[in-house]
Amino acid sequence: KGCLYIVATPIGNLQDISQRALHVLAEVDLIAAEDTRHSQKLLSHYQINTRLYALHDHNEKQRAEQLLSRLEQGMNLALISDAGTPLISDPGYALVNLCRNAGIQVVPLPGPCAAITALCAAGLPTDKFTFAGFLPVKQVARREALACLKSAEMTTVFYEAPRRVEETLAMLVEELGESTAVVLAKELTKTFETFCSGTATQVLDWLREDAVHQKGEFVLMVGPAEQSNLDIPPEAVSLLTLLMQELP
Ligand code: SAM
Repeated sequence: KGCLYIVATPIGNLQDISQRALHVLAEVDLIAAEDTRHSQKLLSHYQINTRLYALHDHNEKQRAEQLLSRLEQGMNLALISDAGTPLISDPGYALVNLCRNAGIQVVPLPGPCAAITALCAAGLPTDKFTFAGFLPVKQVARREALACLKSAEMTTVFYEAPRRVEETLAMLVEELGESTAVVLAKELTKTFETFCSGTATQVLDWLREDAVHQKGEFVLMVGPAEQSNLDIPPEAVSLLTLLMQELP
């Protein structure tokens, strides 16, 4: 049986690809890609001539079955997405799940991921965090998703589309309050990489300041909710409440 390699590719800067990734991409029999034209540019840049195979999202299941039969015939395959780590808000789950169930070896090759790249330089707590993928497109659902962060105990990382980022920040101010700690990472690893951090209102103002600020690719990070009396044992809270009543 063949082997399936899950290969992370750059999210902007073409130098962010590992030696091992280049070696595997050159050696496999076929590369399954999200958008073959897009990936062709990366392969050409590195003079890799391996054949590409389109793995469209809408027919991913059917394509996954076709790829599985090739793996079962002994072909070695690599899976890449347009940018970053496959399966992270990108196609590939159907294929990996199928392969795991069929006893095909799946080998991950680590590399860029916008969420991790953003988080590690944001200055927000990283000891634990939630990666929440893309926020819902529909306004009501998006608002609800943001409102859920009222009691978040850790940093939350979202991907957001440029056409929605300003609206999302405005909703965030309404749902979580003006002083919520927010970091917006834009155009990571590219020439105009920018981190805008501050209160939700400050980040919203920055977005509105210049139309250029709303263009590009964004990772939105929201800090943990302010520690309220949740950390204080309930007995202590009742005692404090009583004491407060006695204060002049
Ligand atoms: N699989 C990718 C990964 O590992 O990061 C994510 C793919 S998802 C379809 C694309 C989203 O990731 C973009 O809309 C944006 O939110 C984020 N993203 C990708 N590249 C980025 C970059 N260079 N700077 C900021 N955000 C980026």
